[in-house]
Amino acid sequence: MSRTKTAYSLLIMSGDTIYAVRDPYGLRPLFLPDNDDECEGYVVASESCAFPSVSGKLLREVEPGEILEITKNGLRSICIVPRPSDQKMSLCIFEYVYFARPDTYMEGQMVYTARLECGRQLARQSPVEADVVSAVPETSTPAAIGFAEESGIVYREIFSKNRYVGRSFIQPSTRLRQLAVLKKFGPLSDNFKDKRIVLIDDSIVRGTTIAAIIRMLREAGATEVHIRIASPPLHFPCYMGINIPTKEELIANKLNADQLAEQIGADSLVYLTVENLEFAVRKHSNTDEKCGGHCTACLTGKYPVELEW
Ligand code: SF4
Repeated sequence: MSRTKTAYSLLIMSGDTIYAVRDPYGLRPLFLPDNDDECEGYVVASESCAFPSVSGKLLREVEPGEILEITKNGLRSICIVPRPSDQKMSLCIFEYVYFARPDTYMEGQMVYTARLECGRQLARQSPVEADVVSAVPETSTPAAIGFAEESGIVYREIFSKNRYVGRSFIQPSTRLRQLAVLKKFGPLSDNFKDKRIVLIDDSIVRGTTIAAIIRMLREAGATEVHIRIASPPLHFPCYMGINIPTKEELIANKLNADQLAEQIGADSLVYLTVENLEFAVRKHSNTDEKCGGHCTACLTGKYPVELEW
């Protein structure tokens, strides 16, 4: 653990013992449930939403740098790489933006609640005149509901989502990502024909997915499409295990928000600021500014770990 600097959460089985290990920066989450009578043994998971299906309730998070030794006699907490007192926790902020399931609890709050707050912040930061607010389903839905609540503009679903198609972000090529969009969404045109839409998306990586979506909405009758992104622009690669493309491939390094709006055919485009994202994920959490912190390296270039090449 002292040699491996970046992100990991591990379960190591040895004989009748399990070790649950979380990296000293707390970049990736790891949870332990409270057993009840129906659940024999222990379960450890990277998202707390796994526990209800095995009759467990969230007991606590494995702490950054902690090793939990789990045997039939119970739990023992071991800490062989103590966190320096000036080292803040660095949970990946993209767990809130995109990765985690909305019903997972992290830092004492439901991920859904943080996404709702991102939408409220976005509405305060960049209001727009429109007839409906909607989301690129499904990660962005709570942010769109938050935006609608704060702005007073009605929320409507504008896509029927094909649930049997995977995440377009993960597809390896532009062509496959565009095809994934067309296969993934069917426009609910009665909900937005001849209307001005505020469309909330969780993030923009290369800009190909959102461009295909805007084209689809215009062809189905939208008069204006205003894009609001519930996270800041991505400028830097992730060296902590997430497959974010190189700097050159990230659209935010080629075009500013206005230029990007023009390229993708949007009437306007605004990103949530880093400050407002951090405020939103902290507002309902149980962490304070002193010890709680988040990795924002792909947004700010401030890496929590020292990079060695
Ligand atoms: S660089 Fe971005 S994706 Fe990677 S751990 Fe940090 S916040 Fe998460």
